[in-house]
Amino acid sequence: MSDESDDGEPDYDNVPTVSCSRCNCEWELSYELDDLQVGNQSVEQFALDHMRHTGHFPDSVSPWVARCRQCPDGDEFLSERPARRWAEIHARHTRHTVDIDHGDDETTTVTPE
Ligand SMILES: [Zn+2]
Ligand SMILES: [Zn+2]
Repeated sequence: MSDESDDGEPDYDNVPTVSCSRCNCEWELSYELDDLQVGNQSVEQFALDHMRHTGHFPDSVSPWVARCRQCPDGDEFLSERPARRWAEIHARHTRHTVDIDHGDDETTTVTPE
């Protein structure tokens, strides 16, 4: 079985591959797809597991990063909603201002009410 597309484009129906330059590793998630048919969710699950074990996300994942401006507190999330919730809760309880970054997007700032 050979690749039908040799142009370097990833085939999105195919096996998702996750790589991590910090670990210098690459993983194929095909078996999880076969089992679960959850598509991108297996990548997310992998990323969360990787974060839990190594403290960082793999390359293909660009996390939402909530970071407090006034204390060392902060966390990384796979989607905007939990990042925003974390920021709002932190701001409410500490009166701190929290920045939320996501890749090249604009930084969102959450300030205490
Ligand atoms: Zn890693
Ligand atoms: Zn804080």
